Amino acid sequence: MENRMELKFSALSQNESFARATVAGFCLQANPTIDELTDIKTAVSEAVTNCIVHAYPKGKGDVYLTATINNGTLTLTVRDHGIGIDDLNKARQPFYTTKPLEERSGMGFTVMESFMDSLKVSNASGGGLEVVMTKTFKQEDEDIVNIG
Ligand code: ATP
Ligand code: MG
Repeated sequence: MENRMELKFSALSQNESFARATVAGFCLQANPTIDELTDIKTAVSEAVTNCIVHAYPKGKGDVYLTATINNGTLTLTVRDHGIGIDDLNKARQPFYTTKPLEERSGMGFTVMESFMDSLKVSNASGGGLEVVMTKTFKQEDEDIVNIG
């Protein structure tokens, strides 16, 4: 059965750790390994930080985060109602950043892609960016392991 949660919070840097910790807490029910949890927290940080840093250059806005766990697979959706991205392919390239002077390395999407099983980035209808990531927990059934 699918389990789902939703968060809406201000695009402020102090909410990055809140989002990361909340998603990690939600994932505990899936009995993740430490490595899986670390990967997920890192991906959440990158996606949420992007909303905070890039989405609303002219002022304030909100971040919307949805997490579902279904049959051992986590799906995370992080979206904003900000400016979106003109060239999505370019933005996803390693080291591509529009903020080189602000200590950005342009590795956010690359990190999300490598730490999660899948990553989709699109401009949402109505404006803003939508990032959808999935990761399947490699939960081992202890009984089967013991028999083996
Ligand atoms: P880093 O994540 O390494 O600090 P970065 O944020 O610039 O640097 P990415 O996360 O890979 O690198 O993002 C690449 C570019 O995509 C950003 O520089 C920005 O131009 C654009 N971008 C990313 N997320 C958003 C967003 N939510 N809204 C608008 N533009 C975005
Ligand atoms: Mg980034």
